[in-house]
This record gives sequence, C-alpha cells and structure tokens, in this order.
Amino acid sequence: MKISIVVPVYNESLGLEEFMKSLNFTMDSLKIHWDVLFVDDGSEDASWQIIQRLTRLYPMARGIQLSRNFGHQIALSAGLEHIDGDAVITMDADLQHPPQVIPALVAKWQEGWEVVNTVRADTRTTGWFKRQTSTLFYRFINKISDVPITAGAADFRLLDRKAVAALLSMPERNRFLRGMVSWIGFRQAFVCYEPGMRRAGESKYTLKKMLHLGIDGLTSFSLGPLRLALLLGAISIILALFYAVYVLWVKIATHTAEPGWTSIIGVVLFFGGVQLVSLGIFGEYLGQIFGETKRRPLYIIRQTTGPIPHPERKETP
Ligand code: UDP
Ligand code: MG
Repeated sequence: MKISIVVPVYNESLGLEEFMKSLNFTMDSLKIHWDVLFVDDGSEDASWQIIQRLTRLYPMARGIQLSRNFGHQIALSAGLEHIDGDAVITMDADLQHPPQVIPALVAKWQEGWEVVNTVRADTRTTGWFKRQTSTLFYRFINKISDVPITAGAADFRLLDRKAVAALLSMPERNRFLRGMVSWIGFRQAFVCYEPGMRRAGESKYTLKKMLHLGIDGLTSFSLGPLRLALLLGAISIILALFYAVYVLWVKIATHTAEPGWTSIIGVVLFFGGVQLVSLGIFGEYLGQIFGETKRRPLYIIRQTTGPIPHPERKETP
C-alpha cells in the first residue's frame, strides 16, 4: 500500500524546504509507504533547483518541471498522471494545507471512502476578499450548476486509485478539478481543517487567475449561463411588447406629441445590452469548444528529477 502526494509548485522557493520537512515528519509517523511528486508549474524563481535538491536529500521526493506556467489545475492534472500510489493526496506547497491533516484523510480512506475532500474552516488566515468572493462564487455556482460543489473545498484531498483513473479518463482541457471530482461520484467523505498561514511567498492566485478559474468552473459545469441568455432575450421581448402597446396607445388615443428620441435611445440601449450579454455568453462557450477541439496536450514537460513512474494516460494526438 502506497500513498502518493502531488504538490503543484509555482514560485514557492521560500517555503518548499519547510514544507518537505513538515510533510516528511507527518508521513514518517504514519508508517506507510509514500512518495511525493512536485510539479513545478514554470516557476521563475529557484523552485526547480530546490526540488532537485530535495530529490537528492529525500529518496521519496521526485519532480517534474512543466515547460511554462500552465496554471494550478493543469499542474495538478499533470501530477496525477505521473504517480502510482494506491491513493493520492493533492495539496498546496505553502503549508496552508497542513500535513497534520493527512492522517485523518488516510484513516477515512482506510475506512473505505474513495474520495476524501477537505473543507476549510473559515478563519482569519484567509484574506477577507478571498473569503467573500469564494463564498459568493460557490453560492452562485451551486444555484445553477448541474453537480454540487462544496463551498470552501480546496484542492486538498485524497483520491483512491479508482478515482484518479476516472479523473484521468476525462479528456477535457478545461479542468476545474473541484467540479470534476464531484462529477465522478464514488463514495466521498469530508474532513474539516483549519488552514495554516501561508508560510512564505504570496498567493499565486491573482484576481485574473481567480476570474479565469471561476468562469471555467461555471461554463464547464453548467448550461445555466446559456439559458440565462435565452431568459434575458425572452424578458426583453415581453417588455418590448408592452412598450409597443403603450406607444400605440399614445399615438391613437392621446394624440400628444410623438415620443421623443429618449425612449428610442432607451430601447436601443436596452436591446444592445441584452444582445451583448447573450453574445458574450455564447462566446464563452464557443471559446470552450474551440479550446477542446484543438486537442492540444494539456501541458508539456521540460524535465524530470527522481524516479517518475510511467504516465497513466498518453496524450492522444
Ligand atoms: N500554483 C501553481 N500554478 C499557478 C498558481 C499556483 O502551481 O499558476 C500552486 C501554488 O504554488 C500553490 C497552489 O498552486 O502550491 C495554490 O496556490 P496559492 O497558494 O497561491 O493559492 P491560494 O492558496 O492563495 O488560493
Ligand atoms: Mg495557498
């Protein structure tokens, strides 16, 4: 029985060694066969050098380096394809996902749960803005999405071999792992944890990256926005009908001056807005289809360090 740990790394040189120490300490106490795979997601700092050093210091450490920054979700997917544990734990490199929680995850797995998710207890360690946007996002996505997605669920979880295989069999390029994990089913458990303070460096999730993740999550797990376009269109047609009746009534019954250009501009603006919104939503889905049809590999590996098992799934051309 072996546990593999997958850690995406983007410019985490300041905290990596401490992370490895802490992880090693916890895993040692578990008395279980384990290894850890660092996926360097195109870091611009010394992260890769540190990963190489760690693989020399710790026999269970290994690393793959992507050719550029592909993003957190893709780095995770890359990691999942290059491990061979009976269970896999994905976690951040910044000690916000405390290794001390791992024994609880493993215990649940040994009870027979195939996916063990974690839910972060809301504390001050996460910034105010992040907490608010995250709460709002999950409330919204769960309103309109086809699969339930737990609020506060981070990409800190244990996946059984079977669940990993299921995830890897999903060919989409647009990877929103939280949704995908919910979609695959299996017996899923939840474990609560207090997030640690980010030890070193700063959050790699810029507002832009958060927005991208949010939009990917919405459009890949819901047709709601497309239906919203339809709804907006329908509402505006109904409103326009009422307005037409009113205009006719003004013309026929009251004989007052013709309605001024203000109302015309108003109508034009309203419909312009509705059309743009709808077009934007279509465009978003079209972009997704475009991305999927290009069938590019999800990521490109520049080099590896330490013993890397054979990839689970070869990219199909
Ligand atoms: N990360 C990555 N690629 C990216 C952004 C982040 O591999 O483009 C890694 C990062 O090194 C960390 C994890 O993903 O291990 C989560 O990122 P971060 O801690 O910055 O996110 P936050 O905890 O602020 O949501
Ligand atoms: Mg973090």
